[in-house]
Amino acid sequence: MPTPAGRHFLQIPGPTNVPDRVLRAIDRPTIDHRGPEFQRLGQEVLEGLKAVFQTRQPVIMFPASGTGAWEAALVNTLSAGDRVLMYETGQFASLWKAMAERLGLAPEFLAVGDDPWRRGADPQAIEARLAQDTAREIKAVCVVHNETSTGVTSRIAEVRRAIDRAGHPALLMVDTISGLGSVDYRHDEWGVDVTVAGSQKGLMLPPGLSFNAVSEKALAATRSSRLPRSFWSWQEMLGPNRNGFFPYTPSTNLMYGLREALAMLQEEGLANVFARHQRHAEATRRAVRAWGLEIQCLDEAEHSPALTAVRMPEGWDEAAYRKVVLEHFDMSLGSGLGKVAGKVFRIGHLGDFNDLTLIATLAGCEMGLALAGVPHRPGGVAAAMNWLADAHRAASPGTFVTRS
Ligand SMILES: *Cc1c(COP(=O)(O)O)cnc(C)c1O
Repeated sequence: MPTPAGRHFLQIPGPTNVPDRVLRAIDRPTIDHRGPEFQRLGQEVLEGLKAVFQTRQPVIMFPASGTGAWEAALVNTLSAGDRVLMYETGQFASLWKAMAERLGLAPEFLAVGDDPWRRGADPQAIEARLAQDTAREIKAVCVVHNETSTGVTSRIAEVRRAIDRAGHPALLMVDTISGLGSVDYRHDEWGVDVTVAGSQKGLMLPPGLSFNAVSEKALAATRSSRLPRSFWSWQEMLGPNRNGFFPYTPSTNLMYGLREALAMLQEEGLANVFARHQRHAEATRRAVRAWGLEIQCLDEAEHSPALTAVRMPEGWDEAAYRKVVLEHFDMSLGSGLGKVAGKVFRIGHLGDFNDLTLIATLAGCEMGLALAGVPHRPGGVAAAMNWLADAHRAASPGTFVTRS
């Protein structure tokens, strides 16, 4: 098979397209990770990361995929047999819970309604469950901020307020692996104790780095936590990190890329980055509705700015549809995961992404629907184009040429 011409469209919700600037930054010699040049790099990225997490606390970085940072969050703060309240939002919440079980914790999976995979975490349900826990046995509440399997975001600030209303001391741990860098996230303001993130989604990097942002309360919890940890130990990291160094060999070249990605986010301005993804998410939803297809997320307040999960018409298989799109248009769309395998496909609009990337992505989706014979109405791309043009017009009124 010849290599297809042009760029592959990687529109899965992670890994995402790595911008040329980041690729070029990575393409440099690996240096001595105990030397002065590395030290400057280490200090710069560890400090620069705080802005994306919106925290003043340390951010701990592991040479690992996001799953590693999930494990680090649990093993640094908890002990065998500890109860943890985990909220069922989708496949990633389910995988985190399975990990908690394997680590010897006692997770309780909270879900509300008959289809929890279509909504975010319910703050009232969390409050009610914590209020029942008069013996204070629950040590942590774990929520996925941007559930990548469903395209639903949870309202983390409201979850924090729910925990506070219950007067419960549990730690709040949040996975924003696919949100960070594309979706507004405020570690300090929202009172999150441990935030889990990764490099290959909103941060526009290749896979291979993951992060924990921590609170003082989370750091204090390490002293009483008894789960075994070595590679994942925050304490082992924080000592050398103070001088920009790491206890073992860090991913030097990914850190060059991270420095560049952080610079790109700062140059655009985080508020503008978040608004850009909101705009693309809205345009995507307009396209999906114009096609007459259903969006997985049911609550208007919980649509993900990073990806949209689309339900196939009854009896139509998403895998067969995605195969048509890949073979004809060299575009990868996200598969259905876990309970929604076969039923849902996902359009990633996170990371390095602009209006025309979106329109091309939606065009690939719409042509694919036609080619695969999936029942739909045409006009999704046009609906998205109209909405984007309107958004530009509204953002700069008076700058458009009119006929006199
Ligand atoms: C991608 C993802 C993960 C898993 O991260 P890996 O880097 O694949 O280990 C966990 N949670 C969410 C929400 C994700 O999107």
